[in-house]
Order: sequence, then C-alpha cells, then structure tokens
Amino acid sequence: MRIVLLGAPGSGKGTQAAILTEHLGVPHISTGVLLRAAVEAGTELGAKARSIMDRGELLPDDIMLDLIEERLQAPDAEPGFVLDGYPRNLSQAASLDGLLDRLEKPLDIAIQIDVDAEQVIRRIARRAAEEGRSDDSEETVRTRMQVYEEQTAPVVDHYARKGLLTQVFGEGSIEDVNQRIMAVLKAEAID
Ligand code: ADP
Repeated sequence: MRIVLLGAPGSGKGTQAAILTEHLGVPHISTGVLLRAAVEAGTELGAKARSIMDRGELLPDDIMLDLIEERLQAPDAEPGFVLDGYPRNLSQAASLDGLLDRLEKPLDIAIQIDVDAEQVIRRIARRAAEEGRSDDSEETVRTRMQVYEEQTAPVVDHYARKGLLTQVFGEGSIEDVNQRIMAVLKAEAID
C-alpha cells in the first residue's frame, strides 16, 4: 500500500506514520528525517539543508525530487510506503504523480490529519521544550505554518481532485487518531 500523509507541522504526521508502518510492514519515508540525518552526517545535502530548515523554508524542488526518487526505489519500498513530508507544494505533487506513473506504482490514498492551528502551536511548543529541534523556535514555526498554508494546503485539494483524499480528525490521543486512520484503511480495503 502506498500512502501519502498530509498535515500541518505538529499535526502528528510523523507519529502516526511510524505507528502505521509497523502495522502495514512498509517503510516510513519522512523527508524531515532524511534531511535531519543528512545534516547530522555532514553531507553536501545536509550543509545545504541546515540553514533552509532552520528558517522554516522549503528546499528546492529538484533536490527533493532526487532524494525522494532514490528513496522510493530502494528495495524496502517495493511493497509500498507511508510518505511523510512530501509533496509539500503543487510542483512536488506533480513530480510525485509523474514519478509514480513511471514506476507504475500509483498511490492508494492521501490522508490529511486535520488539527486546529492553536492546538498545533501548543504541541510544537511542547516538542521544542522536550526535543530541542532547531526548527521549533517560535519564529521558525511561524514561517513553517505560513509555508504550509500557502504552499502545502493546495496539495490537499490536488489529491481531492484526483479522488484520493481522506481527512481524519487529528485531535485526541495518539491511539484515537491511529484508530481513525486504521478505520479509513479498512474501509478502503488497503490495510
Ligand atoms: P514538519 O512537518 O513538522 O514541518 P518536517 O520534519 O517534515 O517537519 O520538515 C522539516 C523541514 O524540512 C521543513 O520545514 C523544510 O525545511 C524541510 N523539508 C521537509 N520536506 C520537504 C519538502 N518536501 N520540500 C522542501 N523542504 C522540505
């Protein structure tokens, strides 16, 4: 099963993706995790990514497409994937459509995790205190939210137009949200 998870920063995409992949036996592919690993490893990509991420802006689309193209073709992604953090704008959505067409691996579903903006800001403030992620500072979070509203929200409509979108209410416990997602997958017969 091939799944795209969509949602604002702090909506719980990463947490839900990690649980889902355990249930489904497919890899969790998170562009944020891949980029933070590149920063840690001090690669050329990491050097480029660091300051852009710390500002809360998006990396160039061509760099992201290379990264995702390579990752989706790794053997562990053969049975499917849960994609988290890509696509983040309409151009990336079109690139992903093209890539998956070429690979003859169409998406099964795009799931948007829907969380109220105030809740999201509270969650990120808590994560900043607990994990110390360098892009969780107040100013960067403001930029990330703005980038989401302006560039990523249209991706939700893109999948709605393709008939692939399901929205799930993202508040309540981690377990509550997971059960809502599992119910959706069951109803769509992709679990
Ligand atoms: P969140 O979903 O909480 O905003 P992520 O871990 O998914 O955090 O992403 C962190 C940062 O990595 C983004 O703010 C951006 O700078 C960069 N990034 C991740 N995915 C992409 C992407 N698809 N295109 C461009 N930049 C990206």
